[in-house]
Amino acid sequence: MDQYKFVSGMIRSYYKSKGKLEVNRINEREFGFGTFDKKIAHRHMKVEDSNQLNEMLVKEAPPYVSCSAAYYKYPDARPMERKVWEGSELIFDLDATDMHLKCTPEHARDWVCGNCFDKVREEAVKLVDDFLMPDFGFSDKEISINFSGNRGYHVRIERDDVLMLSSDARKEMSDYISGNNIDFVSMFPTSQKRGVLRGPKMEDPGWGGKIARNFVDTLNRGPDALAEELGVEKSIAKKLYKNRTLISMGIGNGNWDMVYIKNKAEFWKDMIGRQAISQSDKIDKNVTTDPSHLIRLQNTLHGSTGLVARKIKDVSELADFDPMLKCVAFKKGELKMKVGKVPKFEILGEQVGPFDDEQATLPVYAGLYIFLKGLGQIISYNE
Ligand SMILES: [Zn+2]
Repeated sequence: MDQYKFVSGMIRSYYKSKGKLEVNRINEREFGFGTFDKKIAHRHMKVEDSNQLNEMLVKEAPPYVSCSAAYYKYPDARPMERKVWEGSELIFDLDATDMHLKCTPEHARDWVCGNCFDKVREEAVKLVDDFLMPDFGFSDKEISINFSGNRGYHVRIERDDVLMLSSDARKEMSDYISGNNIDFVSMFPTSQKRGVLRGPKMEDPGWGGKIARNFVDTLNRGPDALAEELGVEKSIAKKLYKNRTLISMGIGNGNWDMVYIKNKAEFWKDMIGRQAISQSDKIDKNVTTDPSHLIRLQNTLHGSTGLVARKIKDVSELADFDPMLKCVAFKKGELKMKVGKVPKFEILGEQVGPFDDEQATLPVYAGLYIFLKGLGQIISYNE
């Protein structure tokens, strides 16, 4: 059988049955469609309304659908300058492959295991709960979150006053979230003097409070967590853990000097540097500062997985969101497959695999996932 033709047919029937997609200010955005080989193969397209978009999706059955975070006067004009930019949504793009996870070397770079899904989801929750709401003051209603369709989440701010933010202003937000340029001395004002080392309290706003809370949380999880996550030397980690009650009480009052540590200012400075780095690895560069950037359209299919880039209701739904359960698009039928090397995974509550170059009959969603990841061939389909 022609596998790609078959999958195109599935995509077509999906958009036919789903009907119209609601897109805010749809006729001011640039659209792009992809092919199985190329995520954005055609761009500079303008769409008049949801009806026209649906007609296009049914007719062309594109494996990838993207649209601009930017609004333009002439979305289909080119080159870019002639589109006349009229603002861009603020978008954060979190992807498990950027997070340097321990599991990544254990599976293919493109593969997403349960740990990848958990960690990138926690990161998205952290972005919303620890930064966007408390520090930038965005409300739940102004934050829109969707699964990216493959390995992460898109978090977007829909508020008028962010639209005109320049690239530099967006970079500044990214730097803040990444903890670039944290000033140790302003956070620990007595660090260059003799006497008690004073520092941030847990309830402090901004980075000071984050550092205090994160340190106490890591401390309470034990010496291994201190060593692994904050790079504290084992013997010091043990000593800190033994005195954790005293230390936590001290930090509660802004006193970071409850236990003797040699070269204390240097020690804390190092520890804070590492906290900021662990943060920046994950989020830095993910604020979309490029105004011409096209991003997956919410609630469309992702051609590398067959999953839906589903819009998530709010951050409380995100807290235990499982894309392999909630974003499955195709549920009916079975695929007879020739499957290559695939680790065990769970989809729609079902354990699948592991496989090692063998033939298998799989539920359609599991077979499509494997095929679209490039890890197997479809032999036939049974309804
Ligand atoms: Zn993983």
